Amino acid sequence: QAKTQGKGCARFYSRAFDGVSSERLALESALHSALSLGQIDLYYQPRVGLDGRPRGCEALMRWQRPDGFVPPDRFIPIAEETGLIGSLTDFALMRACADAAAWPETMRALSVSVNISSRMFADGTLPERVRHACASTGLPPQRLELEITESLLAEPDQGVGEQLHEIRAMGVRIALDDFGTGYCALAYLRQFPIDTLKVDRAFVLECDQSDDARALVRAIVSLGHSLGLGLVAEGLERASQLGELAQLGCDEFQGYMFAAPMPLARFIHWFASEPAELRDVA
Ligand code: C2E
Ligand code: MG
Ligand code: MG
Ligand code: MG
Repeated sequence: QAKTQGKGCARFYSRAFDGVSSERLALESALHSALSLGQIDLYYQPRVGLDGRPRGCEALMRWQRPDGFVPPDRFIPIAEETGLIGSLTDFALMRACADAAAWPETMRALSVSVNISSRMFADGTLPERVRHACASTGLPPQRLELEITESLLAEPDQGVGEQLHEIRAMGVRIALDDFGTGYCALAYLRQFPIDTLKVDRAFVLECDQSDDARALVRAIVSLGHSLGLGLVAEGLERASQLGELAQLGCDEFQGYMFAAPMPLARFIHWFASEPAELRDVA
């Protein structure tokens, strides 16, 4: 009986697996032509200070297919495995830098942040890609920030430190994204040229409800500040979260409660409409 059950299970799993992999193959082959078809775009989500004024924005990639959006959490991993991440990253760097360089005069103090996959450090070409994006668009490197994830810092053999130092030396800033969810040894925070910690949304989500989440955020903020780093909280949806995080010492905030990621034209319009100052913060 166990044998037939085993066989049945094997058939079930193999059919399920075929389903997943053919869907994935279809996505993969569509992703190959997505850039040339003009289906890839960048949206921008603002980051604001305690005074409610925008300080910068994060560029988030969007893949618009004729039948709808494919979320980055689905296509970025495929791009990483197939090597397409290189051309997608070049696109993001070039587009973000070109957009920011062409923003209206009133927005010229804003920085733009681009997400960089850990895979991009494998062949040592990232500093050159970044230099090229700034040089060819005329964006001052001081207005560009790269978001990397802490797991990258635990990969010793990719020359990550050298590349980060080279990029930092150009004036480009470095942020650690999704901080607190990975396995970053705290010593790495001194060893690598990090400017900013982005407190992961998981902590933000619970900080107005759970003492544990608050304690963790307090620890992250005090660690970051004692190392001279900026603290950004991401994924804020409620005023109660903002109240807690401001009290805990976060410097900047990002989330749907201020604005969702938007296409370029809408982002410029959002900025021009002079967002109201935040209330009840401290
Ligand atoms: P991330 O870099 O941590 O980006 C933040 C994500 O949280 C974005 O999801 C953003 O839309 C979402 N978000 C912002 N505010 C809120 C909020 O208040 N509530 C909730 N529930 N979500 C919020 P998105 O755009 O779907 O991107 C997901 C992830 O995909 C990003 O996480 C990043 O890791 C990756 N990604 C996006 N664009 C790129 C890219 O150009 N290159 C690379 N390598 N990765 C990218
Ligand atoms: Mg990010
Ligand atoms: Mg993040
Ligand atoms: Mg993320």
